[in-house]
Amino acid sequence: MSNQRAIGFIGLGIMGRGMAHNLLRAGFPLTVWNRTRSKMADLVAAGAQAADSPAAVAQQSEITITCVSDTPDAQTVILGENGAIHGAAPGSLIIDTSTISPQATREIAASLSAAQIHMLDAPISGGSEGAENGTLSIMVGGDAAQVARAKPAFEAMGKTITHVGEIGAGQTVKIVNQILVVGNMLAASEALLVAAAGGLDLQKALQAVEAGAAGSWMLSNRAPQIFVRDFRPGFTIDLQQKDLRLAMEAADQLGVPLLATSLIHQLYKTLQLQGLGGEGNHALVKALENLSQITVGE
Ligand code: NAP
Repeated sequence: MSNQRAIGFIGLGIMGRGMAHNLLRAGFPLTVWNRTRSKMADLVAAGAQAADSPAAVAQQSEITITCVSDTPDAQTVILGENGAIHGAAPGSLIIDTSTISPQATREIAASLSAAQIHMLDAPISGGSEGAENGTLSIMVGGDAAQVARAKPAFEAMGKTITHVGEIGAGQTVKIVNQILVVGNMLAASEALLVAAAGGLDLQKALQAVEAGAAGSWMLSNRAPQIFVRDFRPGFTIDLQQKDLRLAMEAADQLGVPLLATSLIHQLYKTLQLQGLGGEGNHALVKALENLSQITVGE
């Protein structure tokens, strides 16, 4: 039996599933809940306890981690009718790893604080691969003592754990991250289109540039998928659009014009209108293919 802190995990989607498995592998006693119950089966088979609600998860856990889609979803699983707040003991900790609004994060933390429950915001980056391999980058906002308390759990899920500031600061850093992600994706898409139009061997072109100044995670991980027309999602276009909306809202409040990011938001919108919102965010290349009538890869 493990002597590690009891952890709860709420939201076993593309990211949550891998993160929860890594907590189990690290020896934490784990209680899980997912809205679609069938997604709990493989975690239960691996040793987790299934709970009936977010509140029931929190009741079993010193630290409860959430990883759901958007701001209203995090509000529901934390503060809603059967939300974690109703099961969490005073002094316990809730960590939200979803990407949501920084302002809403501060409001959730205030509600939890009134019930003497601590909160950290800890959005993640590194794709489904990072979640599976335990190599996520985790950007943490909140009280330093709580960050120290959560460190072993963070280390089971991620490789680069950075305490970036007060509650909500993690979400603002995540917005910075997402602006960089989509900018890299657009640059990679345009470059690959030119490579294809120029009749290059795409693998060789990638090999020639990826280790130099032009390299990026998006290029190295997603270009090979584009070459074989594999648009299964590590991160869906619909969720990417949610993050760009958060980015543009935050930048608007801060008085920063986001020119390239707005353009990319509109390009993704054309794909959503084509019914492609469930594809991976590397399908951005399709928006440019539609404009140029050139296809990258097979
Ligand atoms: P996903 O596969 O679509 O999973 C979403 C999860 O949230 C599912 O477990 C879903 O439950 C749950 N959920 C959504 N709304 C809910 C609600 N109202 N009540 C209860 N549960 C709800 O998404 P994901 O890719 O894992 O992303 C999760 C979060 O991580 C998002 O905020 C995303 O922006 C962020 N993120 C994702 C990536 C990535 O590469 N995928 C990278 C970094 C950050 P059901 O199973 O019942 O639908």
